[in-house]
Amino acid sequence: MTRFIFITGGVVSSLGKGLSAAALGALLQARGFKVRLRKLDPYLNVDPGTMSPYQHGEVYVTDDGAETDLDLGHYERFTGVASRRSDNVTAGRIYSTVLAKERRGDYLGGTVQVIPHVTDAIKEFIRADIVDEDFVLCEIGGTVGDIESLPFLEAIRQLGNELGRERALFLHLTLVPWIPSAGELKTKPTQHSVKELLGVGIQPDILLCRCDREIPPDARRKIALFCNLRPEAVIQALDVDTIYQVPVAYHSQGFDREVCRHFGIEPPAPDLGGWHRVVERVRAPEGEVSIAVVGKYTSLPDSYKSLAEALAHGGIANNARVKLDWIDSEIFESGDAIQRLENVNGILVPGGFGERGTEGKVMAARFARERNVPYFGICFGMQMAVIEAARNLADIPNAGSTEFGANADPVVGLMTEWMRGNVLERRSDASDLGGTMRLGAYDCVLQPGSLVHKIYGADRISERHRHRYEVNIHYKDRLEAAGLLFSGLSPDGVLPEIVELPGHRWFVGVQFHPELKSRPFEPHPLFTSFIEAALAQSRLV
Ligand code: GLN
Repeated sequence: MTRFIFITGGVVSSLGKGLSAAALGALLQARGFKVRLRKLDPYLNVDPGTMSPYQHGEVYVTDDGAETDLDLGHYERFTGVASRRSDNVTAGRIYSTVLAKERRGDYLGGTVQVIPHVTDAIKEFIRADIVDEDFVLCEIGGTVGDIESLPFLEAIRQLGNELGRERALFLHLTLVPWIPSAGELKTKPTQHSVKELLGVGIQPDILLCRCDREIPPDARRKIALFCNLRPEAVIQALDVDTIYQVPVAYHSQGFDREVCRHFGIEPPAPDLGGWHRVVERVRAPEGEVSIAVVGKYTSLPDSYKSLAEALAHGGIANNARVKLDWIDSEIFESGDAIQRLENVNGILVPGGFGERGTEGKVMAARFARERNVPYFGICFGMQMAVIEAARNLADIPNAGSTEFGANADPVVGLMTEWMRGNVLERRSDASDLGGTMRLGAYDCVLQPGSLVHKIYGADRISERHRHRYEVNIHYKDRLEAAGLLFSGLSPDGVLPEIVELPGHRWFVGVQFHPELKSRPFEPHPLFTSFIEAALAQSRLV
C-alpha cells in the first residue's frame, strides 16, 4: 500500500522544503521503506529547461531526459533513487495537457474548469507511475497563499479525502523567526500560515518549524494549541552547518517517528551510521584543496548546485575540504586577472550557454594545460578546452563553435543526426529552443588504457547530457595528432564524449554532466579522481 506525504511551505520561500523532503525520504528509507519523491511546481513554464539559471537555479536532468527542478537533485543525492520524468510537473505542463484534451474534444462539449479538470490532471500526475513504493513524497513548490498554488493545494486536499488519513499526511514547513528587539522567537507567522492552509481546507498533521535557536517548550505548546496539533507534532528544525546533517538532526527531533505514528506503523529504528560518517568527514577533513570554478553564473551558487555537491563528494572521498573560488570567466578577458589561477590546485570549467565569457574560459583551459594544473571541463568546459587545443596545439587558429555563429573551423558544431541504441535521432537548427538538445542518459565507450578507463574501471558507461552542440568528430585525427586523446566516444563512434591530455597531470573534458549522478555515499569517480589530483598538486606547491 502506497502512502502519500504532501509537503507545503509557508511564511517565506527558501526554507529548504526540498531538503526537508529529501531528508524525510532518507529517514524513511533508513527504516526499510521504499520511497519516491516528486515535485509539483506551480509556475506556468512547461518545464524549467528554458529558464535562466539566475531565475531558477540549475536545471536538473534525469536519465530519461527530463529537464527538472533542482530539488530533484537533492532527492537523488539523499535517497539514491534515480528520478524520472514522472517526478516533476509544472502548472504549465498540467494546463498544456488539459488544453490539448480540450482541443481534441475529449471533454465532450463540457465546460473545462480548474475544478475538476485541472485538479484531476494534478491528481493523475501524483498517482501515476507508482509500482511498489511504500511512500510517495510530494513537494508543492512556492508558498501557501500564492495564487498559482491554489489548484495544487485543492488537488492534494481532494486526494487527502480520497486516500483517507491512514494513507495521506500533510506536512507544513514554516519559519519561527527570532526578533532581536523583543528577544523572543515569534510563533505568529506560523499561526497565520496554518490559517491560510486551513482556509483551503487542509489541516496540517505535522509542522516542521525552521528556527535558528531552540524553540522553548511553551512556544511549542502555543504553536500546537493555535494550530490544532499535539505538541509532539510540532518539530523544530534547527539550522545545521552541513546539509548532510539534516536527516540526523530531524531524526533527533522525532520527525520520522511522528510520521510513522501518524500512519500507525512501528518500524524498527533507522540505521543512520552512514549519515553520521558523512557528517564526520565533512566536519573534520584532513586535507584541503582549492578549486577555481570558472563559469558564467558564478554569482548564484544555486545555478551550479549539483556541481558544488559533487565537488564536496570528491572531498569526502579524499577526506579533504574543497574550497571553491567562483570566478566569472569574463574577468580573464582583460588585464592580468589570470594570475588569480596561480594559487588554485585545480580548475573546473562547468556547463554554460552563449558566447559571453567564452574567451575567458578558453584562457582558463590554456592556463591549466600549460601550467600542468588539474583541469576538469564539463560540457561547455570540454568544448572550450577542445577549441583551445585546436587553436594552440593543432594550429587551427580560427577554431570555434557554431553556437556563436558561422565559423571557418567549426571544431564544435550542431550535430543533426546520431544513434541512440538502435534509433536514429534527428535535430534541426530550426527546431525551437526546447527541442534541440541531447538530453538524458547516453552510453559512452571508453578507450582501454586511457585515464578515464582507469578512473571508471569500466569499458562502457552511461551519463546524463544536456547540450545542443558537439565536438566535431571530423577534427579528431588532427587533434589527436596534436596530443589530445578522444578517450570516450558514443557507441556508434560519431559523438566525442570525453577528451583527455596524456602526459598532463589531470586534464579531462566530458560532454556530459557527471555531477548529476554524484552522491555523498557514492562520490562520482571523476570527481574523486579530480580532487585526488588537486590534492597531489597542492602538496607540490
Ligand atoms: N552550450 C553548449 C551546448 O549547447 C554547452 C551546454 C552545456 O554546457 N550544458 O552544446
